[in-house]
Amino acid sequence: MTAGNYSETWWGEYQPGGWPWDRTFAIRANATSLSASTLSTMDNRSKMTAAHELGHALSLADNPSTTSASIMKYPSTSAGVLTVPTTFDKTNVKNKY
Ligand SMILES: [Zn+2]
Repeated sequence: MTAGNYSETWWGEYQPGGWPWDRTFAIRANATSLSASTLSTMDNRSKMTAAHELGHALSLADNPSTTSASIMKYPSTSAGVLTVPTTFDKTNVKNKY
């Protein structure tokens, strides 16, 4: 996992290294967009980004439309900035393996 200042708006980016897509990977954190956000705290935004991207490494997809609390959603409020996987997330990982 590396951090840098990128012009895009994403907080983090998961880059699969091949196939299967969740076996080798690189994660980038975007210090520019993480710093610009006013949701929650920088510490929490960074933790959520790491947890979200590692969720991809465990085969979880982005899940912006779920009504469940999840690290795979995109937070729109400070309360939505989660720093650890939820029971919903853990169940989804268990269902993958
Ligand atoms: Zn994602």
